Amino acid sequence: MEEEKKSRFKRICVFCGSSSGKKPSYQEAAVELGRELVERRIDLVYGGGSVGLMGLVSQAVHDGGRHVLGVIPRTLMPREITGETIGEVRAVSDMHQRKAEMARQADAFIALPGGYGTLEELLEVITWAQLGIHRKPVGLLNVEGYYNSLLSFLDKAVDEGFISPTARRIIVSAPTAKQLVRELEEHIPEYDEITSKLIWEEVERLNYMPDSDVPT
Ligand code: AMP
Repeated sequence: MEEEKKSRFKRICVFCGSSSGKKPSYQEAAVELGRELVERRIDLVYGGGSVGLMGLVSQAVHDGGRHVLGVIPRTLMPREITGETIGEVRAVSDMHQRKAEMARQADAFIALPGGYGTLEELLEVITWAQLGIHRKPVGLLNVEGYYNSLLSFLDKAVDEGFISPTARRIIVSAPTAKQLVRELEEHIPEYDEITSKLIWEEVERLNYMPDSDVPT
């Protein structure tokens, strides 16, 4: 039996589609990511509920015996919108609070394939990283090249002078869960000089000491 792997992360936030996507590989990737978290003894925070890829990743983590925290706005709580919930559910008043709470609870972020909601959540945590609000790694699980066109667009934004090369490197991308989590474990965040001098009020900061829980 493979030796249990330790992780520097206690809990990872996963953003993903509330739909399952057309290819079975998207669903397989959600389950594979859940199992990878279990194998590394990492807990999950996500948007709550059981719809789409969100249901698959949360079920896999729950089945593996790790803690699952779903953060969900009260308005989205009815079962017909979000499905059954598993693990711990934290109700919040709106979408902004939900994002802030998910981010606060996590040591890193991973986006699986998804739609507008996933993109919005992903781009927000990248923007927060760019501004020095947090120093948590951000990973993109690029299943079968689903995100290739987004990554090309970001490269274009660098070429056109809208994203700095340092900020472009905030996103860690890999085709499999195993590879992605390994790369996130090794990732060392970089900061633009101006960003590193910004001081955010306590309420804006998402407290995280990158090395505090790293097993030595
Ligand atoms: P989307 O990519 O548009 O399917 O949106 C997925 C993301 O938005 C998830 O990471 C959730 O945080 C949130 N979300 C969208 N729809 C729902 C829903 N019906 N129930 C719970 N969360 C949702």
